[in-house]
Amino acid sequence: MSSTPYTRFQTTLHSVLSKIDFEHGSNTLFDNPQHIHKKEITIHGDDGKPKTMNAFRVQFNNARGPYKGGIRFHQEADEDEVKALAALMAIKTAVVNIPFGGAKGGVQVNPKELTKGEVQKVAREYVRAFQENLGADIDCPAPDVNTNPDIMAWMRDEYETLTRSYSPAMITGKPLSFGGSLGRDSATARGGFFILQEMVDRLALDPSDMRVAIQGFGNAGAHMAKFLHNAGYIVVAVSDSQGGIYSPEGIDPVRIAKYKEKTGSVTGEYCEGSVCDISRMNMDSVEQVTNEQLLEIDCDILIPAALDNVITADNADRIKAQYILELANGPTTPEADVILDKKGKRIIPDVLANAGGVTVSYFEWSQGRSGEQWTEDIVDDRLKKVMLDAYKSVRRESRRENLTYREAAFAVGIKRMFDAMTVRGWL
Ligand code: NAD
Repeated sequence: MSSTPYTRFQTTLHSVLSKIDFEHGSNTLFDNPQHIHKKEITIHGDDGKPKTMNAFRVQFNNARGPYKGGIRFHQEADEDEVKALAALMAIKTAVVNIPFGGAKGGVQVNPKELTKGEVQKVAREYVRAFQENLGADIDCPAPDVNTNPDIMAWMRDEYETLTRSYSPAMITGKPLSFGGSLGRDSATARGGFFILQEMVDRLALDPSDMRVAIQGFGNAGAHMAKFLHNAGYIVVAVSDSQGGIYSPEGIDPVRIAKYKEKTGSVTGEYCEGSVCDISRMNMDSVEQVTNEQLLEIDCDILIPAALDNVITADNADRIKAQYILELANGPTTPEADVILDKKGKRIIPDVLANAGGVTVSYFEWSQGRSGEQWTEDIVDDRLKKVMLDAYKSVRRESRRENLTYREAAFAVGIKRMFDAMTVRGWL
């Protein structure tokens, strides 16, 4: 039977549970989410015709605090994928030790085929469908693939209208003008950058010798490319859904982002420009690569920052990078993990590497509740501390229990969830 996102999560979970010493040592403890909510939502398109789509909110565990996790608009978002992403969120919030549980949402739709008005209708219908399950103390969504601050703002507005309340903390990743936090837009990449920089420092490596390939040039990937470029790393390859570009001498991600913005036409909420358009710029050393080729490029650091299940048993053997920083959720399968570990590759796993997003979402939630507005420096300092503390816990667990960083991160997260469940008398 072929694996699915959720069976891959369970494989990792069971492998970790078998290696660590649990008082209640049950293999089935975190097998199922606490709640799976699914509904069909219908909007009326601009042509007047109804469009119906599946929508999901999966609430994995809330022992440590309100459920927290993004909403994805994607044609392949199904119950199994949303379940796996919710489970990863529960581990992630525990790894960075913020007072949240884990959840995830999804709408099975290709939003790039919708107009901006139709995207807004989907956002508002989603909130109408799951209103009873959402709230600052219950479950707070955030952006994920193909959702953005505008969509978060429409969702907050819909929720406040339905509940006749003022509820800025019911959702995060909002625009700055509507209850957002400074630093939230770049937080996922910023958090990953802090960890990568710490690793590079500890290994006494020189950033200017480090060649980096990044798959995905959206929120996570494009910000990461910019941070690395500005810190002196050589970004040799970037890609998006249409393909990628490679230059051994390095490419300037800031120039690419500007070019993509300038040449891309915007329909609905989404930019249609591609990093591939760059071949039209006067850059002789740049060649086009496919997304599959990008993963196998000769580089030191590989950063998957697009979708899941891209590093598998089929290509793991050909990955040349020594370090893999997972900004995407679930990019590496358990089989690939084993192959890469045997080859001595170091993986900074998703539940640690991309936790900067949910950490600044926590800061936004706190600001929404207190009415404060933190400066960008405060956000940055606090994010750095949270990320480096989490990295330290994972390193320590890895050394103590002889685990890979992924196993160690799962162990740290599971133990913290387990402690909270014990206090609540759930065990
Ligand atoms: P995004 O929608 O802003 O960008 C996604 C990027 O991936 C785009 O450049 C898109 O063109 C590219 N892409 C799509 N399909 C692709 C394919 N088949 N091959 C290569 N590239 C492809 O999304 P994002 O917010 O940057 O999320 C990217 C990943 O990071 C996801 O796995 C998401 O779950 C994870 N993540 C995001 C956040 C966040 O705060 N945004 C937080 C944690 C994790």
